[in-house]
Amino acid sequence: MKVLLLEDEKSIRDFVRINLKREGWAVVEAETGEEALELADREPDIEIAILDVMLPGMDGFEVCGRLRQKYPRLGIIMLTAKSQERDKVMGLEFGADDYVGKPFSPAELLARVKALYRRLSSAAVPPVEKNELDLSPFTLLLDERKLVKQDQEIVLTPKEFAIIKLLGENANKAISRDEILTAVWGQFFIGDLKIVDVNIRRIRQKIERDPAHPAFLETVWGYGYLWRKDVSHEGN
Ligand code: CA
Repeated sequence: MKVLLLEDEKSIRDFVRINLKREGWAVVEAETGEEALELADREPDIEIAILDVMLPGMDGFEVCGRLRQKYPRLGIIMLTAKSQERDKVMGLEFGADDYVGKPFSPAELLARVKALYRRLSSAAVPPVEKNELDLSPFTLLLDERKLVKQDQEIVLTPKEFAIIKLLGENANKAISRDEILTAVWGQFFIGDLKIVDVNIRRIRQKIERDPAHPAFLETVWGYGYLWRKDVSHEGN
């Protein structure tokens, strides 16, 4: 975690650096905008830039704009004069992510840095929306409507798939035969509950090592069935 700190006042630079370092951040410092741009090019692992607005020479807004253009994913926090509402607006227009008004407390700045860092890291790695149900050692691929075990497909009928999905989504919870019948065959199915048992038996033959002593698809006597999850399935 590396921060680029651009601030012409040494005393502010010092206390910001000390506080960031205490929180485990590496800090590279620049006194002028030109220096900051050079540093950014030289140190590609900078994640957040803290930029003072009022600087001799190139001001913080310009630095911000240039950094933003070159490094779209860099986090940028502007240090603005508290009284200058205009500075906040300007900073955001130049592509800053946040601003802290001067004078600020170290805690305030650190909180902003941390919040921004969290935002950046969660944006950098979008959660992969894997549409599958983990029924270790099986995986139910919901989009493809397939059950696989170690990349081997276990061929299921649509009803068998629906039963495993229902029980798997409610793992370790007993589901009654009635519930299974309604969920899988529909509310208006006219027929016997035994069709549930028949399908369960077929599934067991496909997935259980010993269908007579199921490790996954358990019978809940007098009630229904249960998918057993997170238990050891040695040998399966
Ligand atoms: Ca200044």
